[in-house]
Amino acid sequence: MSQNLDLTKPIELGPEVFWVGYVVPNDPFQCHTYLIRNGEESILIDPGSMITFPIVLEKILKLVELKDIKYIIFHHQDPDITGCYNILEQLFPNPSKERFAVTHWRAKTLLKHYKWKTPFYLVDKHDWKLQAGDRLLEFVFTPYAHFPGAFCTYDPKSEILFSSDIFGAISDKFQLFATDDEEYYQGVELFHKHYMPSSAILNYALDRIMEKNPKLIAPQHGSIIKEDMIIPVVNRLRKLDCGLFLLQKGAEDIKILNKVDELLKKLIRNILSKSNIKTLLLEVFQILKSEIPHLSKLVIVSDIPIDHKNFLLEVTDKKVELVFIPKDYELKNFSFRGILETETRKIGTLYLFSEKNLSREELKFLDLLYSHIKYPLSISLEKELTIEALTIKSKILEEHVFKDPLTGLHNRAYLKRCLESMDKDKPVSIIVIDIDHFKSINDTYGHQIGDCVLKELAKILRSNFRESDCVIRYGGEEFLVVLNNCDLETACKKAEKLRKEVEEHTFCKEEGLNLKVTISAGVRQVLNLENFKEEFDKADKALYRAKETGRNRVVCI
Ligand code: GH3
Ligand code: MG
Ligand code: MG
Repeated sequence: MSQNLDLTKPIELGPEVFWVGYVVPNDPFQCHTYLIRNGEESILIDPGSMITFPIVLEKILKLVELKDIKYIIFHHQDPDITGCYNILEQLFPNPSKERFAVTHWRAKTLLKHYKWKTPFYLVDKHDWKLQAGDRLLEFVFTPYAHFPGAFCTYDPKSEILFSSDIFGAISDKFQLFATDDEEYYQGVELFHKHYMPSSAILNYALDRIMEKNPKLIAPQHGSIIKEDMIIPVVNRLRKLDCGLFLLQKGAEDIKILNKVDELLKKLIRNILSKSNIKTLLLEVFQILKSEIPHLSKLVIVSDIPIDHKNFLLEVTDKKVELVFIPKDYELKNFSFRGILETETRKIGTLYLFSEKNLSREELKFLDLLYSHIKYPLSISLEKELTIEALTIKSKILEEHVFKDPLTGLHNRAYLKRCLESMDKDKPVSIIVIDIDHFKSINDTYGHQIGDCVLKELAKILRSNFRESDCVIRYGGEEFLVVLNNCDLETACKKAEKLRKEVEEHTFCKEEGLNLKVTISAGVRQVLNLENFKEEFDKADKALYRAKETGRNRVVCI
């Protein structure tokens, strides 16, 4: 405790207002009692339990005589507030003197079971006010935060608000006054997440409290909040998701719950915002790994097929791989498995692998986390897996549409795309190629050998040009090469080299033949890509001239 306070003595919070609590050693859940010294109408706030009572009583007696306590405020009926009152009531020296248990009617319905002699003063029946001597206390109704009849007490004279459970905290490190550090805020958030039923209820209570504009907030648990800390704490609490886990079965471990909540926010944000399956899965894996570092990979086996084939996505540190798998494929040695399903169908299975066995805590953590992300992740994956499957399927279809099945080259339908792929500000040239006397090859050796020539020529063509050039089977035995970033002179040289290579090649050896085949070619630099048809016709004319002038030659124009 670095706040240099003597916690064995009452601590004055404002004029005549004192903290008279007892700090229970090693208890993350501290409970506070406050006293307003107010002559013969002194007020004790949330007297406390039998654990704290002996010390609390000692401190009270340092400030007032018991006979002078006229009002005892019970913000609600929990044992940490009321536990000592059976005894305290008997200690009052003048039991016949008027004295009141100040509370809400809902708390009274429970408190009456103690059979105290002290009569009740119901705040809701007295216009939420209490005149105690010259002090007029005001009560703030904060229903369901966390008790249906919960309320706070505001003392305008000291400008201190006694907030009961609101602004409480659970923390390993106790400090009487709140400090602007993360550990403190986390303790406050942890408490509210689990004790407040919902964000709306908490925000309603905060609104009512802030209307009083208190200068100090004295909660029954956690730390007392001085003026400069009020707004920062309120701002943190306003954003909090509360009551998230109350319905979660078997989830008592508050630390796991808190961790799950933290990761859940990150995961859900990612699931909702990432529109690409690979980035999404990488992020999900990284977030899980931040909690369980020995996770080695995440695998999604998809029930949504691509082109009738099953597949899985394997996610490791930096990459996501798509692998096609047989129908009855089974994964073994995984550490965690979760079904991915939407309301209407199963879409796959998620597997986690780790370098060593997961501990019971880690499994519990994953189970809990998974139960929360299962549906959002499944819905997002359903969409993404479908898109992935469709993208790949459309690529496969595209290949069919734009590919010549015999030679594997692009077909004429691809020309438009080919022209679009050219570097616009660079010269483009074309070579139109036709096999010489091809008809006679067919006639002599049959159609199959003709096909074999076409296939071998296609290979030679493809190997003679760059990836960025298009090699197209334009018609039966006619080919078109579109050369990216290539002027006429270079195109001519390339065509000539090709012609020579074909001339020297022996075709259809595998079929037991030694065929010699030649080609003719027309070459032209395309001056205007927009007007491709005209440019092509000119190249075709050049080809015609090559044929006319003896074949097995290249004509450039
Ligand atoms: P030229 O030197 O004047 O070009 O004479 P050519 O015989 O090569 O020209 P022509 O246009 O008269 O004949 C082309 C032949 O190509 C006719 C056709 O049967 C053949 N052909 C077209 N497509 C295919 C194919 O896919 N496979 C086979 N085997 N032959 C084809
Ligand atoms: Mg022809
Ligand atoms: Mg021909």
